[in-house]
Amino acid sequence: MIPEEIPVLIIGGGPVGMTCALLLEKYGLKSLVIERTDALPQTPRAHVIRKRSMDIFDKIGVADAIYEAVPGPETRFITWVAQLAGKEIGRIDMARDGIPGGWANLPQNLLCPILLEQMAHNELADIATETECLDISTSPNGVTATLQNAGGTKTVSARWLIAADGAGSRTRDALGIRMVGPDNLAQFYMVHIKADLTEWVKDRPGPLFWILNPEAPGTLIVHELEKSHVFMVPSRGKELTEDKLVQHIRRGLGGDVPIEILNAGRWTAYSQIAEQYRQGRAFLAGDAAHRFPPSGGLGLNTGILDVHNLAWKLALVDKGLAGDALLDSYEIECRSVAQTNADASLHNMMTLAEVHEAIGPFDTLKDLETRLDQLSPPARENLQQAIDNQTSHFTSDGIYPGTWTGEPHRDLGVPTNYRSFKLLMRVPPKWAGPVAALEKKHSLRIEIYPFIQAHDRQGFLKDKEAVLLRPDDQVAWVGATPQELDDAVAAALAGPVSGADEGTSTAA
Ligand SMILES: Cc1cc2nc3c(=O)[nH]c(=O)nc-3n(C[C@H](O)[C@H](O)[C@H](O)COP(=O)(O)OP(=O)(O)OC[C@H]3O[C@@H](n4cnc5c(N)ncnc54)[C@H](O)[C@@H]3O)c2cc1C
Repeated sequence: MIPEEIPVLIIGGGPVGMTCALLLEKYGLKSLVIERTDALPQTPRAHVIRKRSMDIFDKIGVADAIYEAVPGPETRFITWVAQLAGKEIGRIDMARDGIPGGWANLPQNLLCPILLEQMAHNELADIATETECLDISTSPNGVTATLQNAGGTKTVSARWLIAADGAGSRTRDALGIRMVGPDNLAQFYMVHIKADLTEWVKDRPGPLFWILNPEAPGTLIVHELEKSHVFMVPSRGKELTEDKLVQHIRRGLGGDVPIEILNAGRWTAYSQIAEQYRQGRAFLAGDAAHRFPPSGGLGLNTGILDVHNLAWKLALVDKGLAGDALLDSYEIECRSVAQTNADASLHNMMTLAEVHEAIGPFDTLKDLETRLDQLSPPARENLQQAIDNQTSHFTSDGIYPGTWTGEPHRDLGVPTNYRSFKLLMRVPPKWAGPVAALEKKHSLRIEIYPFIQAHDRQGFLKDKEAVLLRPDDQVAWVGATPQELDDAVAAALAGPVSGADEGTSTAA
């Protein structure tokens, strides 16, 4: 049942839209997600869910379900091959190369059902599936959306609107917001296949195989060893029939294995960011705000950071506990992070060529195999170096400067109240009086936790007394006296954390 009015309307029930609704629920704000499909995507797409996203998923109660749903294989190796069943060119060993742990390798088609199930248990986070948003109109007081589903067309009004309707966002277009940055970097067919690849993957388990066979190149993403994979087939703008795709994939894999195409869609790589994240009472989030190459696995993760940054601010402003300027800080803080992640993804995509260059020119599979056989020891070392240089695909954490990432995050407790800031202190009881007065003054909760040196990986505290974390775990202030804390809380409610737009640490 679609209401006529709702506090927050979210267009797009992908991972970002649903996470946004679940976060808003934690902060006490009711929302409705509009999703044109059944919200159960068939294709895997994103799969690398980084540690920071997992911390956020923990807050909305789905982290354990995500870890449990990970189908495998073990995410140990990233491998370059001539063909999957052919010559191996080299690998990155993620255990050896110190890639940070705590992430989950769960494809988007298995993640979305977990989020949808969680929405079913939340009264404040609702979803209307099989419902399309046709248009929106904005006014200084809110937004009205025209929706269509099997029951016909209707309008719904909201105080706030979040466009999470993906890379081709129609809502973004309706708001007249342009994307800026490199367009049309490469074209692929993203082919979801059913095939049992156990034989070639079991001894070098990992999610990614780069296939360099010049007659059938591509990236193989192994999602479920025995049955679900994506083969990214470069298309260079050409139309490829299903038969041609099967042929290409067979020659890329090399082994004799039955393949069934479950889904094939054209996909273009961009490295673009929306020129604005906010227009009045409407905000962009996720791929609607930024779209970059999947090299680095940062797209979905950046979107989860977006809504984590926005949700608590929206809740405070909606309840009249902070001024509207706090919402401007969303764009200031998140756009620069998206730009950094777009640049990193593009860099990752470009540096992949180093591996080809280290092998030398080859036009046929036979050439490639001959070259690999004839590599001198220094040339082989050079090739392995080129492969090791690709480690940046997996090491970039893609998070805000100044985010508290102390371990284990769960030990800090998970405040579920939108009013909750956290104060980590060396001597916790010391400021209890002034903190209580501040809580009253700002109608906030400031939860005091003992500071544990081992948790301060970034060294925020060093010689200071206390660190103030915003509800999104962003370090708002590091200091020594309760008087400074008073100013810091007021500043955190007024706008962006200092330095966020320059991409520097926010720690004082
Ligand atoms: C091959 C591949 C691998 C990737 N791997 C990773 C990875 O490992 N890690 C990572 O972080 N990212 C990865 N990405 C990127 C990731 O898939 C996206 O960043 C992510 O899907 C963005 O989520 P979203 O919710 O913003 O948008 P989407 O997932 O696109 O969801 C948007 C939703 O809006 C709905 N919608 C659109 N228009 C309307 C409308 N008018 N009315 C109602 N509903 C509408 C759509 O049906 C859709 O469900 C990968 C992408 C690809 C292609």
